[in-house]
Amino acid sequence: MSYEKLDLQPFFDTVDELKPQFIERLRKAIAIPSVSADETLRPQVVKMAHFLVDELKSLGFHDIQLKDLGTQPPPVADPKLQLPPIVLARFGSNPDKKTVLVYGHYDVQPALKDDGWATEPFEMTLNEAQDIMYGRGTTDDKGPVIGWLNVIEAHNKLGWELPVNLVVCFEGMEESGSLGLDKLVEDEANQYFKGVDQVTISDNYWLGTKKPVLTYGLRGCNYYQIIVEGPGADLHSGIFGGIIAEPMTDLVHLMGELVDNKGKILIPGVYDMVAPLTDKEDALYDNIDFSVDELNAASGSETALHENKKDILKHRWRYPSLSLHGIEGAFSGAGAKTVIPAKVVGKFSIRTVPDIDSGKLDQLVFEHVTKKWQELGSKNKFKVELIHDGNYWVSNPFNKAFTAASHATQDVWNVVPDMTREGGSIPITLTFEKALGVDVLLLPMGRGDDGAHSINEKLDVPNYINGCKTLGGFLHYYGRGE
Ligand SMILES: [Zn+2]
Repeated sequence: MSYEKLDLQPFFDTVDELKPQFIERLRKAIAIPSVSADETLRPQVVKMAHFLVDELKSLGFHDIQLKDLGTQPPPVADPKLQLPPIVLARFGSNPDKKTVLVYGHYDVQPALKDDGWATEPFEMTLNEAQDIMYGRGTTDDKGPVIGWLNVIEAHNKLGWELPVNLVVCFEGMEESGSLGLDKLVEDEANQYFKGVDQVTISDNYWLGTKKPVLTYGLRGCNYYQIIVEGPGADLHSGIFGGIIAEPMTDLVHLMGELVDNKGKILIPGVYDMVAPLTDKEDALYDNIDFSVDELNAASGSETALHENKKDILKHRWRYPSLSLHGIEGAFSGAGAKTVIPAKVVGKFSIRTVPDIDSGKLDQLVFEHVTKKWQELGSKNKFKVELIHDGNYWVSNPFNKAFTAASHATQDVWNVVPDMTREGGSIPITLTFEKALGVDVLLLPMGRGDDGAHSINEKLDVPNYINGCKTLGGFLHYYGRGE
């Protein structure tokens, strides 16, 4: 793909020059343990919001607002616990320029040295030999959030105008269900976010460790349960075995009718709703940096259901899957208890993809399970229901924003980025797309092995610095109307 290059070298050089300051800014952010899941650390989450406000002010952002989201809904230990504010700010408001909204989160996952960290999680450690920064939040998501601020600092230093108007939306509850975010985005759609042309989120990762990616799709998830109950209480198999209808026997039979051991969903009609694969989409999988070995390493086994890279990725990203998760009420401990459980609840979920209609899927699931139940002729009671659902998201990887991000990536990394999807969900993506009615781009900074939610979370310095260049470069290509 050839394209007309912009001369961004002065910007890239300035980012390189400012590298020590950028690392220092991230170090200060990591030092604030803004763990949203820990009520006792809530003041630190709020402190982090104020840290960002101070940074935004000094960089020249305007219309800075801390949006109060009220108290946190139960369950909470402190019923008056306040949700951390959402930080909004603008840089520029020229009606002739496009407006890009960037989302990030300033809260982090919990972390204790005792969990097995090699370094203090809230003291950023720069390993110069490896060129890696360790610390909770380096990659998820303080690195990218601070990255956007660094882009502005480099422009200020150069005396360059930003090619777009920038709106930032930083939340402090992402790791705890983004409480309050949906409503705020809807409320501000025609207020603070009015005129936004495009939303960019840097809160996911490269697929592997070598090649940058842009992400254009996420699977959804519909989660169900099957409830089977019979006896009035748990019974003993020595007394009742063979003479009453056992709920577990029924449930195991039903769960065995959902998916086969090659991963094929047995519910009629599900695959009929899946969007056909076009040649253009198929070609996107050709050059992706991934292998069966990487899957084996990630799963810690050699149990892959598919032989080659393309089939594996398609089944992770663009085909639905059904997983059996567990049975509530069943005997699950060690040993040989002779119980007959009175009531069991089987849990399973379906990862959804375009063009599966969520309501239609529910109907197919209910019909299939009910039919299989009727075939059993059991005297037990039965129910199947949806626990929760969240839709899939897919964007056009050939649209303006993806094209601009691709060009910026090529300028910085000298390689065409892989166009990836993810098998899981990032619910905020859909929130923004729906509420604002604009396209969303997922532009990750970190690598697939950063350990976002585990011990020894890290961000490679090249990813941080080149990430800043890519974020800034994206704004330039997008701003000129790629
Ligand atoms: Zn995150």
